Amino acid sequence: AHDIHIIGGGLAGSEAAWQLAQRGYNVRLSEMRGSGETTPAHQTDGLAELVCSNSFRSDDDEKNAVGLLHHEMRRLDSIVMRAGEKARVPAGSAMAVDRDIFSAEVERMLLEHPNITVVRERIDTLPDEGLTIVATGPLTAQSLAESIVSATGSDRLAFFDAIAPIVHRDSIDMAKCWIQSRWNKRTEASNEEGDYINCPMTKEQYEAFHQGLIDGEKTEFREWEKDTPYFEGCMPIEVMASRGVETLRYGPMKGVGLDNPYDTSEEHPQGRWPYAVVQLRQDNRLGTLWNMVGFQTKLKYGAQIELFRTIPGLENAEFARLGGLHRNTFLNSPDVLDRQLRLKAAPHIRFAGQVTGCEGYVESSAVGLMAGLMVAAELAGRNWTSPPRETAMGALLSHITGDAEAATFQPMNVNFGLFPPFEERVPKKVRKEAYTSRAKESFGAWLAEMEGVPA
Ligand code: FAD
Repeated sequence: AHDIHIIGGGLAGSEAAWQLAQRGYNVRLSEMRGSGETTPAHQTDGLAELVCSNSFRSDDDEKNAVGLLHHEMRRLDSIVMRAGEKARVPAGSAMAVDRDIFSAEVERMLLEHPNITVVRERIDTLPDEGLTIVATGPLTAQSLAESIVSATGSDRLAFFDAIAPIVHRDSIDMAKCWIQSRWNKRTEASNEEGDYINCPMTKEQYEAFHQGLIDGEKTEFREWEKDTPYFEGCMPIEVMASRGVETLRYGPMKGVGLDNPYDTSEEHPQGRWPYAVVQLRQDNRLGTLWNMVGFQTKLKYGAQIELFRTIPGLENAEFARLGGLHRNTFLNSPDVLDRQLRLKAAPHIRFAGQVTGCEGYVESSAVGLMAGLMVAAELAGRNWTSPPRETAMGALLSHITGDAEAATFQPMNVNFGLFPPFEERVPKKVRKEAYTSRAKESFGAWLAEMEGVPA
């Protein structure tokens, strides 16, 4: 008999299993690889296989948000961090691992654990009862995905992402752009001034930009992604651009109904409509992150940065996340999960890992870790308090479980834009250190309280 059933032995499932087992709970961990099944990206039957790069990104816990996440996970005795340390290969300030040693080490620790039973089996339906964590990742098997859809509704589980670049608000030069909604339209949720930041373009600027989209180097779809159709409204911006020089001016870059205050005349005292415009819309409740509306793209990252910094107002833009389009199964978590990663419609089921709409190896593992702790609290009959929003874990969890806008929800890496801004002004030069030192203090206090020991 087990206390908890975890479906998916990838990064998140392995981490959740470890956390629960270490707290004395019996875990059944179901992994379909090794039973004759696989995903299009996995190459082995090993638990916690890294499907692409071998890097956990920056290990700098003073200036980097993902490095800070490493730090917090280590303090919680993360199996991913432990095995990562054993498998570590030189990579400067980044943490990179030998993927085979890493996966073997995770697998060894889980198999040797007396409280864990690893079963090689594919699970096809969400269980009707019993505490469950679903951690089946971006390539969740089809039948289970269908079962999830029937629990959440068809438009609540996406099968690929369409990520528009996200910009840190404080890196936008507001002396060149302005805030206004098209035709000054408002809804109840609208901000006083308007809901969009508008970056205006002249004809010359637009034409050069259009050419840049056509010429920019693109990433190819992987062989198995090629039959993924573009969802309506999710066409890459460069594909739209390739249909004709005017297409974007009738689409996401249209200037009508927007009064450019930097281009006024007697005839247009409010400002003329710009020839073309790039609009950004608020992406999180904190108002620190703004996404470029309609700019999902397969342009290479370098090409995106170079081209998007030619947009008036975005010359010094810092990107919290660049655009992309991939096969990726993920929930609209802000809508369907509660703050504890429980499916609102079936609260005995939690989700963890990339399927919750976080992005990346470390983030997926961290969400698995938190799901494990939440279940442990539930099994112990304790109340669960989430890590504070000032911490990397808390910021990530808050984002995916409600702070992100559900209507435009797309996968997210951990980054400082998810952290609450400081009330007092902190100079940019020391802001990253300020975020991490505030986080560490906050995390320490939370940890002490959770473990019932004085800070
Ligand atoms: P996974 O690690 O994929 O684990 C899910 C597990 O569930 C798998 O082992 C799968 O076999 C199993 N499973 C699925 N369905 C079932 C079922 N019905 N029953 C039983 N088991 C099931 N992130 C990075 O940080 N760096 C990268 O370079 C990177 N590259 C990526 C490349 C690709 C092609 C993809 C798809 C993703 C990439 N990611 C990358 C994103 C992501 O961080 C990883 O996919 C990560 O492994 C997610 O962790 P997870 O535990 O949520 O899912």
